[in-house]
Amino acid sequence: MDDELAVHLKTYEGRAATIAGIGKDPVNVPMIRHWCEAMGDTNPSYVGPDAVAPPTMLQVWTMGGLSGHGGRAKAYDELLGLLDGAGYTSVVATDCEQEYVRPLRPGDEITFDSVIESVSERKTTRLGTGYFVTSRMDVRVGEDLVGTHRFRILKYAPARRKPKERRPRPVVNRDNAGFWAGVRQHRLLIQRCADCGILRFPWLPGCNSCGSLDWDPLEACGEGTVFSYVVMHHPPFPAFTASDHGADAAGPYAVALIELAEGVRMISNVVGVPYDKVRIGLPVRVEFRAYDDELVLPVFRTREGVA
Ligand SMILES: [Zn+2]
Repeated sequence: MDDELAVHLKTYEGRAATIAGIGKDPVNVPMIRHWCEAMGDTNPSYVGPDAVAPPTMLQVWTMGGLSGHGGRAKAYDELLGLLDGAGYTSVVATDCEQEYVRPLRPGDEITFDSVIESVSERKTTRLGTGYFVTSRMDVRVGEDLVGTHRFRILKYAPARRKPKERRPRPVVNRDNAGFWAGVRQHRLLIQRCADCGILRFPWLPGCNSCGSLDWDPLEACGEGTVFSYVVMHHPPFPAFTASDHGADAAGPYAVALIELAEGVRMISNVVGVPYDKVRIGLPVRVEFRAYDDELVLPVFRTREGVA
């Protein structure tokens, strides 16, 4: 199917895209001045009685403006229509090459023709798969070729977006497996030493106070306060964005050290309040948030009425 398309597309090579186009205005001083001001080009060649037009204005003299041009042949529109019909519905201008044969001067009357110069093989780019279509415009004054303008587009089928990257998984090991098992049940578990009774978090195999290896899990009540926090400013990382929109980029966001009512502290996100409203002492309550089908993380929400 695509091979047939490629063969069909190739038949458009060499066909006219524009026939006997006529510049709407002769090369003129006001347009040259506007261009130079817009470009910040102060080259003295473009002012005064012997001024020439900046060569890079070549295409300007051929532009149809809002009312468009006569002389447009059907071939180019047909070619684009074929590509649209085959699913290559997007277009992006990729590059332009110009050749200048002689300078243009105020008063020069422009005519031009354009031709479909080439249609590439099917190519896959970062944007998607499609065909490069190159057209070439020959610009003349009278019978003289004064320049050529070669313009290339990619007509393509947009690549499917990659599925959103998943948020990194916590590292679950023998020492902390019980904590994560609790999170799956929406319980915030801390460890209590079976010998001295000291509470500890994060989970560790032994007691820092007495060295005992014996412990019991204790379910925290979920209340806490912000003990400290930092605000992260960094380039957006898709796994941390709320959606696929750039406007929801992850930064800045607050990362807080939460002191639980039981006295131990844990690092988590504060939700329900803008990053710049997070404050030391802010009262929060644990909430178990599902990030995808597998991942649930404890986060801390500001208590109602507090911001
Ligand atoms: Zn102990």
